[in-house]
Amino acid sequence: MLPITLFLGFFQAAGLAKSDRLLAAKAFDSASSLLSRAESVVVFTGAGMSKESGIPTFRDALEGLWENFCPEDLATPEAFERDPQRVRDFYEYRREFVRKAKPNAGHLAIAAMESIFPEVIVVTQNVDCLHEAAGSTNVIGLHGEILSNCCNRGCPGTQPGSMTTCPTCGSDSLRPNVVWFGEPLDPILMKRARICVSCASALLVVGTSGAVYPAAGLVDIAVEKGIPFIEINPNKSPFSDHAKLFIPSTAAVALPEIVSRVGREIEALE
Ligand SMILES: [Zn+2]
Repeated sequence: MLPITLFLGFFQAAGLAKSDRLLAAKAFDSASSLLSRAESVVVFTGAGMSKESGIPTFRDALEGLWENFCPEDLATPEAFERDPQRVRDFYEYRREFVRKAKPNAGHLAIAAMESIFPEVIVVTQNVDCLHEAAGSTNVIGLHGEILSNCCNRGCPGTQPGSMTTCPTCGSDSLRPNVVWFGEPLDPILMKRARICVSCASALLVVGTSGAVYPAAGLVDIAVEKGIPFIEINPNKSPFSDHAKLFIPSTAAVALPEIVSRVGREIEALE
């Protein structure tokens, strides 16, 4: 089936023309019709979602003091072995953004979906826990949590971000509890995410670049199983052409509109 692609990149522009407002309303109506009979919705979110809360993406964070570094210098187990203090300093700089950040209207709309649909599962590539802060109760964080630490030697459990000595092995090996470049995702979490997508009646993909495999494989499952998915993204991603509906907007703009429309539509059906 061909995607219904509506080019609405003008959303962020102040003062929409009447015809543009109508187009936007049509996109939101199409999304709410697709979702209104869903029993189980998986929402898959990426860095674009957090950017609207003031958290720079990894690439965007490489500026100022950090502009001459590449990911291999800052976010790999080898970089940490070579220079743990540099890696810790970089993550402390990134943690400052996360500590100051608040959930945006998109996070809040996703949390509100739990009062509309029987089941809502959030699968996220973000490490800031803003979905939980917004009130989402069923979150699979594929890439970890930036504010805590874990042992680079593989000891189990997580520790406060301020600790550097592992309480299990006693080495100075505590590192940010995030998945680094070249590291595998937790196979149990990936399996849970795959099962959730396979059983979903709709998939909402929000603010992902689409470049990060194997998480992006979740979209492939939806495509293979014919599960309709809606993508909300200011720019096209590799998934966009497979989407049932592509809405070129941001989460904080589009999600509150869509969720309130679905709520009204479901009320009307009852
Ligand atoms: Zn340890």
